[in-house]
Amino acid sequence: MAEESIFTKIINGDIPSDILYEDEDCICIKDIAPQAPVHVLLIPRKPIPRLADATAEDQALLGRLMLRSGDIARQLGIDEAFRLVVNNGAGAGQTVFHLHLHLLAGKEFTEAGL
Ligand code: 5GP
Repeated sequence: MAEESIFTKIINGDIPSDILYEDEDCICIKDIAPQAPVHVLLIPRKPIPRLADATAEDQALLGRLMLRSGDIARQLGIDEAFRLVVNNGAGAGQTVFHLHLHLLAGKEFTEAGL
């Protein structure tokens, strides 16, 4: 069996973390090394390693994650201007191989990337 990701450990409560939001599908936590004044991670409980590993079976879950990101942006008061980022693969900067959406806001975004 593949080793548990740090995010699975957080989801299971093995590593303490401030959970901003959670439901049956996902949790939302602050990024430990924020790249913007607001930088939170939306993490599905299901440990899909990379976006490219998601299958048709994950279609509804992926849709719900997108909707949740809008809800969380509203909750955080950043729904007028935020960026949603998914890094897929080490070459794209992915360091934790458990799918997650970066929600970033509070700074000017002038180009693609974090
Ligand atoms: P990636 O580079 O895989 O797209 O994003 C992983 C993110 O997880 C990084 O922005 C990193 O700062 C964050 N991160 C890594 N370990 C932890 C942790 O233990 N707690 C939290 N809250 N964030 C983490």
